[in-house]
Amino acid sequence: MLHVSHAPSDYCCPFCAIAAGSAAAFTAWRGARVLVHISNRWYAHSPGHALVIPQAHYENVYALPDDLAGDVARTAGRVAAAMRRGYPCDGVTIRQNNEPAGGQDVWHLHTHVIPCQAGHRPQGAFPLVDDGKRARYAALLRDSLAALAPAADSTSAAP
Ligand SMILES: [Zn+2]
Repeated sequence: MLHVSHAPSDYCCPFCAIAAGSAAAFTAWRGARVLVHISNRWYAHSPGHALVIPQAHYENVYALPDDLAGDVARTAGRVAAAMRRGYPCDGVTIRQNNEPAGGQDVWHLHTHVIPCQAGHRPQGAFPLVDDGKRARYAALLRDSLAALAPAADSTSAAP
């Protein structure tokens, strides 16, 4: 295990706050150990950009236990399928950034699941998004995930 941290000692983790239930209107799914949350920023042609977040705090992929990494990866795959089915998108990009050099800027591991439209790469401006739009996409993704077959993994037992 590699131990590398960029979080300040007094870091107030926004994703631990989400795991504790804040901003629940933007959470599309909550399993036993991971949740799916609509990002507060998205690219211009990628509405409904989602994050798969472990509910326990691990800063980066170097620290993530293997079994939890499996839950995160399976959930990201399910979110991608739900987006392709329920969003107006033509494909999906999955990204996971580590350390500032790797593009990370929140010090709690998260995997981006980014809906894509033909001809528009998910890059460039990454502006804050209106809360009403976020809530609408959270509902859309919630419904689309619910329409998939149940997850056959440890994240399927929602509390
Ligand atoms: Zn955290």
